[in-house]
Amino acid sequence: MLYLPENIVKEMIEYAREEAPLEACGILAGREKRIKRFYSMSNTDRSPRSYFMDPAEQLKVMKEIRNSNLEMVGIIHSHPASPAYPSARDIELAFYPELSYVIVSLEHNNQPDIGSFRINKGKIIKEELVIA
Ligand SMILES: [Zn+2]
Repeated sequence: MLYLPENIVKEMIEYAREEAPLEACGILAGREKRIKRFYSMSNTDRSPRSYFMDPAEQLKVMKEIRNSNLEMVGIIHSHPASPAYPSARDIELAFYPELSYVIVSLEHNNQPDIGSFRINKGKIIKEELVIA
């Protein structure tokens, strides 16, 4: 179960729309599985079908998260033109079974869809998402 505050959902969708047609990505920080903060990150792939976070930027954000007494809980990225479901590449690059992989789909632009997943050794487990 992942708890996402409504204002953070809005921020994520806004960022995904700004970056479209390229994929957008970011880091979700919180405590346990309660998200407190969204950090938008640059997608160094600059691609509509993949994302890669800038390692230096990631390091900076990780430090900020630690200094705020939070932890990294998830990674979010957008699918500008495909469903909110991990792609083959997403599965391949999912190195952290303890993280939630959140996908914002803009496939149906007026009705963004969000899914959260745990990915462990190629296996996808859909995670219940509570938006409040
Ligand atoms: Zn993806």
